[in-house]
Amino acid sequence: MTERHSITTRQAVDEFCLQCRGHDPFAVGNCERESCPLWPVRPNRSLQGRTPLDFDCDDATQEVLDALDLDYIERQLG
Ligand code: SF4
Repeated sequence: MTERHSITTRQAVDEFCLQCRGHDPFAVGNCERESCPLWPVRPNRSLQGRTPLDFDCDDATQEVLDALDLDYIERQLG
């Protein structure tokens, strides 16, 4: 009996590109091989021009804390 797997075209492209670039999402997003037929639809295109150093987890945490406005919550709790 043969096991059937069903994936979407999107999932196939994502997986193909990630395998092509060693499962590095930044490498996929920054892929420079424009002649590749998958280039216009590769995943992580929003990462083009960015590196992991462009993202600071500490800043992200502080942004979330600022958005929560903990002072307001503490005032409400009295
Ligand atoms: S678009 Fe880039 S990452 Fe995707 S398959 Fe083509 S060469 Fe590889």
